[in-house]
Amino acid sequence: MISFEGVQKSYRADAVEETVTALADIDLGIKSGEFVSVVGPSGCGKTTLLHLAAGILEPTTGTVEIDGVDVQSPEHERKGVGLVFQQPVALEWRTVRQNILLPAQLLRENGEIEHDMKFYRDRADDLLSLTGLDGFGDSYPNELSGGMQQRVTISQALIYEPSVLLMDEPFGSLDAMTKDQLNLELLRIWQETEKTILFITHDLDEAIFLSDRVVVLSPRPGQVVADIEIDLPRPRDEDTHGTERFVELSTELHQHFKGFK
Ligand code: ADP
Ligand code: MG
Repeated sequence: MISFEGVQKSYRADAVEETVTALADIDLGIKSGEFVSVVGPSGCGKTTLLHLAAGILEPTTGTVEIDGVDVQSPEHERKGVGLVFQQPVALEWRTVRQNILLPAQLLRENGEIEHDMKFYRDRADDLLSLTGLDGFGDSYPNELSGGMQQRVTISQALIYEPSVLLMDEPFGSLDAMTKDQLNLELLRIWQETEKTILFITHDLDEAIFLSDRVVVLSPRPGQVVADIEIDLPRPRDEDTHGTERFVELSTELHQHFKGFK
């Protein structure tokens, strides 16, 4: 569903005529319906990897494809991909429902809309319910906690029914309890909607809890140094963290990071 082939990405800092290689030799495939997390030390190129998949950045060499189409080509359907970043993106002067509808309104202004607004209004109501925001549709973002605001961001990303979700440390700024709760809800949404998810995090236990596979990147330039299958049974719940297998996987993953320092 998502494939990186021979991807390298360098940034050019014009002022000093120096190039920074953020990612090198990335070959990575993610199957349809799979939940894959990417972990690695700060600055190793995780956000760069996600922006390449989103088509926001162009690889210096290599190709990134989604559903067999190069994300840089005009044939690539951006609507098929939902993006969730670390910081909530809700506009403070619009209600939660209006914020969830925002991506659909922007597309309508571009003439790219597929359905009438009634369709999206109904869908926004479904999403409020799917993401646990029942009763908050008419609230304003500043009336919501950080965790609730991230639910709004996830709803916005789901408004076009994308088959792929790209998430960059979406729960990174939340407290541990809220993060655990949203992890459970994300798994439920993933199971109900059968998305393919590429999830970036620096939290190793979060990656294990959520994923089918965890990919470890080395310090910059980021290269894949491990690709670990997470064979924990599903559905997973609060007790998963305490299981023997979870602890084994967590120990294995932490070992890779020890080698980086
Ligand atoms: P991560 O998300 O893993 O922390 P990033 O992908 O944000 O890492 O960045 C990887 C490396 O690329 C870092 O060293 C960063 O300084 C550099 N970098 C990121 N964006 C740019 C940019 N626009 N111009 C120059 N260098 C950049
Ligand atoms: Mg980042």
